[in-house]
This record gives sequence, C-alpha cells and structure tokens, in this order.
Amino acid sequence: MSTNLKEILQPGAHVVVVGLGKSGVSAVRFLLNLGVKISVSEGGRQENLEGDLVRWLKEKRVFVETGGHTSELLHSADCILVSPGVPLGIEPLATARQKGIPVVGELALAKDFLKAPVVAVTGTNGKSTVTTLIGDLLRGSNKKVFVGGNIGIPLAEYLAGEQDCEVVVLEVSSFQLDSAGEFRPRVGVVLNITPDHLDRYASYEEYVESKMSIFKNQQPEDIAVLNGDDPAIAKWLTDAAARKNNRPLASVMREYSSGGKGGTAAYVSGTRVCVAAEDMPGSVIEEYELSGTPLAQSPNSENAMAAILAVRAMGCSPEAIRKSLSGFSPLPHRLALVAEINGVSYYDDSKATNVGAVYSALGGMQQPVVLIAGGRDKGGGYEMLLPLVKEKVRGMVLIGEAREAIAKTFSNATRIAFAEEMEEAVQLAGKMAEKGDAVLLSPACASFDMFRSYSHRGEVFTQAVSRLERQERR
Ligand code: ADP
Repeated sequence: MSTNLKEILQPGAHVVVVGLGKSGVSAVRFLLNLGVKISVSEGGRQENLEGDLVRWLKEKRVFVETGGHTSELLHSADCILVSPGVPLGIEPLATARQKGIPVVGELALAKDFLKAPVVAVTGTNGKSTVTTLIGDLLRGSNKKVFVGGNIGIPLAEYLAGEQDCEVVVLEVSSFQLDSAGEFRPRVGVVLNITPDHLDRYASYEEYVESKMSIFKNQQPEDIAVLNGDDPAIAKWLTDAAARKNNRPLASVMREYSSGGKGGTAAYVSGTRVCVAAEDMPGSVIEEYELSGTPLAQSPNSENAMAAILAVRAMGCSPEAIRKSLSGFSPLPHRLALVAEINGVSYYDDSKATNVGAVYSALGGMQQPVVLIAGGRDKGGGYEMLLPLVKEKVRGMVLIGEAREAIAKTFSNATRIAFAEEMEEAVQLAGKMAEKGDAVLLSPACASFDMFRSYSHRGEVFTQAVSRLERQERR
C-alpha cells in the first residue's frame, strides 16, 4: 500500500528525527516549513553537540533527547525520520515499525515533496565521481541542477529551500536506500557491487539487494543504467528473472561494458566511449573521446560510460557532453597523483576503503606497485586481491588494526612490512620501490583507527610524501 507522507506530515503531527548529523539538521529545517511538532533523538552526548545548534533547536522549540533513543519518545511519533548513520534494526525503531509508525529516511520524502526528476547513483565505488560528473555534464547542457544526497548537501536541505532546479542528482548509499520508501528515480544508476559494510548487513546478498532496490519503484518509462560487467549485478538480474518477479526494472535498461560484452548500450574502444541507440544495442551511433581527460583510464572510463548514458537519458546533446567531459577534474583522494620522486609516482587513493576500490586501482596500474594498505577492517576479506597482488605488487606496507589479517592473506604473494604511522609507511614504501614503480595508498579499510576520516588519511599521506621529496632533494 502506498504511503503518502504529505498526508502524514500535516501541521500538528509529531515527527521524531533520529540522528543529529548533517542530514538530521537538514531534516529539521525541512520539517519546520511544514509546521509539524518536531523532536530530535540523538545517540551522542549533549556536550558533543555544537552550542549554536542547541540554541537554534531551542529557539525553534524542537525537543532534543541525547545519549540514546528512548521508546517513549519514538513511539509517540506519527512519523520517524532516520539519518543514514542510524541502523534501522535498533530496538526502538524496530518496535516503532511494528506499531505501524512510518520509519523513513530523506529519500522517501522525494516521492511526495520533490518537484524535479531525479538521477540517482549507487554502487560500492565511484558514486561521488559519477554523481559529480553527471552534475557537470547537465550544467554543461545549461540545466539548473542540484547535486547532493550522500555527498555535499543532503536532499532534505534542498527540499527545505526554493526547489528551483530542473534536475536533482543524488549520490545514494545502501543505508539511504534501506529507508527510501517509494523513492523512484527517473534514472537509476548502479555502478558495481563488491563486498563492503558487511559489519552492518547480515549477508552479502542483503547488501546486493539493498543496492538493487534503487530500481524497485521505477515505472516502464524510467531508465536503469547498469554495469554489464559486474558479476553481482548479473547474478541478481538472472535470479530476478528466474523468480519472475516483476520488480525489476525500468523498461529502458541501458547496460554498459568496458569490453563491449554482448550488445550493450555503451562500451570502451581504446580511449573512446561508444554509445548505441536505445533500440539498436551494439550499434555505434555516438563516440566520446576521453584521451587527454582524467577519465581515460579504468575505472574512470567506466564511470564516464555510466554518466554519459544517464545524461543522454535526461536529454543532453552529444556535443554538449563532449565539451564538458574535457573539463572534468577528478575528486581529491581518488587515485590522485601527488608527486614523482626519483622516478617513482606516488598516488593518494585514500578513498579506497574497501577491496573493490583497491582491485580497480591495481587493475588500472600499468607499472609495478608498492601498496600501502590497512586501517579498520570492514569484514569483507581480502582474497579478491590475491591475483592482482601476485601480478603487480612488488611489496606491501601495512598499517592499522587490520595489518595482521592482511599480512596473513598475502604473506606468500609479496614482500610485507609493517609501519606504525603513515610517515614511516611512506619512508618504507619509498625504499621498496624501484625507478618506474608506483607507490599507491589504497587502504581497503576504513580510516577511523588512526585518522579522523579518509580525507585526513590522504592529507597525512600527502604531507609525508612532500617530506620525503624534500629529504631526497637535499
Ligand atoms: P564512492 O562515493 O562510491 O565512495 P568515489 O568516487 O568517492 O566513490 O571513489 C571511491 C574509491 O573508489 C576511490 O578509491 C576510487 O579510486 C575508486 N573508484 C572510483 N570509481 C570506481 C569504479 N567504477 N569501480 C571501482 N572503484 C572505483
């Protein structure tokens, strides 16, 4: 049965916002416009909240509970708005659902409150890159675009404002999809699915199901853009067809494949993306040259295919797309070349927080690699990397909590050293590398055991590389 949130969120209704991070604050701002009664339930302690935020909430008459989520408050709600960081299975949320209280995330608001069509991008890796690229390509076609969601500005913030854009482009995480209600993107994109966040999902299958649910409310006129080379996506499609469940997919399905697998909508030939007409898969009707742009190399050439298919579906012309592709600048901490010292290239790929991202980084490297990896384990195992490590990795320098586990997997495959700090890791990697090699920070782990965030980890790496450069110049 369809839930109309506009009917539920009427003036006077009581809404509890769970989680007071960035998206929780935006949710409060959105709800203030509706005239509902707002409470906030925050797991962290009161003293960790910013004073200005506490004052603002008080001024707006928002009730705030901190240090945990009580059943008393949550069960008194007409609707609960959860932030993506909050696990949906925790006690008061599970029982609230049993009581019939709608528990939704910000994506669920889109159905009843968002005016513009949505392009939504999910996948284990490449979401931010593709979301940003799609935004750039749409802007290059003179469209007024909002880009946000899981990156930058939360959707609720946009919903709270003027809503003056023609297209809304959203990066969407699996956590957000789990509370997305009847979210229906005009164009849904799934880039790849490899093990990640297995500390929060009961199984890998559940994680795959979560990602593929981006298509679940699409209608025949909507568009699904999918990576045709991805085994997890292929298996899900085969299983769905066998189950004869009519859930998938938008009738317009645009698959892409680096190798041009069996008549896909797009493939890569050399440094060009070739795109086929909707009704003639496999036939080349448009070409996009990537050489000279940061998109020429895998995995970014795959990201370019996904973005081109998405914006073609939104009416951008090939000429405008070609122009904007050449101006794309890569995001920091994603395979960024930071220095060349004594003929060795140093790459910061700190955003590679899972094995899938490291797999693609190693896959794209043309030269032998000294890999700096480790951090907080995410539960997916590292075996997937074994063949590439054997083929390309001269040595590994391991840091952080997961270093023993990683060393165990690769002890017979390559040379391994341990480091206590990033500074030491860079020094050791520099010594291991030979002229023409790459030193690659691509950790396969979360950063929180040693750093504030992946970007902090990338900055500390870049500083250590700069110090090495100065030391070598002396
Ligand atoms: P996300 O937002 O999904 O984390 P990012 O664009 O921030 O994606 O990239 C995260 C990591 O994944 C980086 O290490 C980047 O080099 C790598 N990456 C980017 N695109 C892909 C892709 N298509 N497949 C695999 N890894 C990718």
